[in-house]
Amino acid sequence: MKKGQIVKLTGGLYSILDAETKVLLQARASGILRHQKLDENSSFNKQLTKRTKLDIKTVQISPKVGDFVLYDDTDINHSIKTVLERQNELTRPDVANVDQVLILTSVKNPNFSFNLLDQFLILIEQAHIKPVLIVSKIDLISEVELATLKDILTYYERIGYDVHYVNSKQKIGFDTLEDLFTDKLSVLAGQTGAGKSTFLNALMPELGIKTQEISMALGRGKHTTRHTELYFYGGGMIADTPGFSKLELSIFDPNELKDYFVEFKHYESACKFGTSCSHTHEPECAIKDNPNILLTRYQNYIKYYEEIKNKKERY
Ligand code: ZN
Repeated sequence: MKKGQIVKLTGGLYSILDAETKVLLQARASGILRHQKLDENSSFNKQLTKRTKLDIKTVQISPKVGDFVLYDDTDINHSIKTVLERQNELTRPDVANVDQVLILTSVKNPNFSFNLLDQFLILIEQAHIKPVLIVSKIDLISEVELATLKDILTYYERIGYDVHYVNSKQKIGFDTLEDLFTDKLSVLAGQTGAGKSTFLNALMPELGIKTQEISMALGRGKHTTRHTELYFYGGGMIADTPGFSKLELSIFDPNELKDYFVEFKHYESACKFGTSCSHTHEPECAIKDNPNILLTRYQNYIKYYEEIKNKKERY
């Protein structure tokens, strides 16, 4: 049995990168994976609802891109026999063991949105992955406007997020990205039109990825195939994702939300009600009206909190 990592999935066929030889080979999933027995702490357990967890302990595991697997190298099909435990996983795109998600956000067309950024950060924090912010199309606003935006974004850097500024068309700002990809599996995500294709093309001109502008000109009815692939770049791998126009948080308990506002944990011990403070209405709250917390962050927190709470009440 040999170890490898799945780098591409088309139809039922997997491309595996052998961990030792770094040779790419084709593989198929073995039938064994349909009846995997899971133990309590398995990372695959997270896919199950509470109910199925009680009822069934054997599940079908579908290998996905990013998975580390054991395959049979003596078999012509290179059958995948075991999918190793996942560090983390995303469902859209279907990628496992992600080291970082690059959030590509344009300054204009579409306009920069702190609302979208904060939602994005929540989703990535929730998946236990490191987010990296890439601000694109910086040539579309004036120097003064850019300086103002950078000033606000230093807040995000202070709370632990790396921020990079790029102009993909003229390849400006790419020098700061040089070591970003080394030994990492990165996922590139962003709003439709934020310039993901242009960004990828600037990184890897040889790919010749169709840009958003072209696909938009083709108009409606564009079918995106269910196909995930990792590109090799800078000593690491990058997965592209389809663009989206709106995000949806999948949090059902409003009290869980604060866990994903990473800067809150530095202050909440000073709340009168400590970790049980919801930071919405309680007296002597160290988060509310805290001058060290960016106001739009707090406002977005309240907004999402109310949305989650209202949704919960409806059910
Ligand atoms: Zn509080």
